[in-house]
Amino acid sequence: GCQSGSGDSQTLTAGTAPGFPPFEMKQDGELVGFDVELLEAVIEATEYELGGWEELEFKSLIPALNNGNVDVVAAGMTINDDRKEAIDFSDPYYSSNQAVVVRENGSFSPSSLNDLSGATVGAQKGTTGESVITDQLIEAGTIEESQYNAYGNYVLAVEDLLNENVDVIIIDVPVANSFVADRSIESAFVHETGEQFGFGIQSGNDELTGALNSGLTTVEDDGTYRDLTEKWFGQ
Ligand code: GLN
Repeated sequence: GCQSGSGDSQTLTAGTAPGFPPFEMKQDGELVGFDVELLEAVIEATEYELGGWEELEFKSLIPALNNGNVDVVAAGMTINDDRKEAIDFSDPYYSSNQAVVVRENGSFSPSSLNDLSGATVGAQKGTTGESVITDQLIEAGTIEESQYNAYGNYVLAVEDLLNENVDVIIIDVPVANSFVADRSIESAFVHETGEQFGFGIQSGNDELTGALNSGLTTVEDDGTYRDLTEKWFGQ
């Protein structure tokens, strides 16, 4: 056994950003979702323990890892090079693209990013949906910066879409599917980004990264991962 106290049986604080169904959301005041149950099962398969969850805005999750307020993030967070400069990631556990979502039976039915010319566009702050808007729509001159509405969470973005305060929102496909299921909104088209979600970890914490990766393998091999996808995505 390890005598130094730096290894075994450490208690972890996990961070997430509710309002991203079915990955993480509040149900009767309780934090639930695919990410929540997956990370809990993964940690259960390691020598670490989960002390509890911190609920933050999505854009505050990487700073929270960096300042040590949380040890691990499970928030449908896409693994990408920009973020890898600040944090480390586990192996991928879910794939996604970006959906461009409009009001159902509305007059606006874009089928490509070019069709968004002149539209007002919403996304959650700090997300890859926001990156599509800044790096492609604004950069290409398709929309003006003032036509981008940035929201603290996607629930507010969806409300503004329904209230006709914004023409489209750009959001991860599996989350769009969840919002679309019980609201009068629909996916107009999918912008293929080929994203993969990973758990976020403090940069250089290789011990935790390794433990979470073997925990992921365990829950994939023992059927837990499949059970959770059936429960939360019905597939
Ligand atoms: N997958 C997107 C990202 O990583 C959105 C995540 C989220 O809004 N929780 O930026």
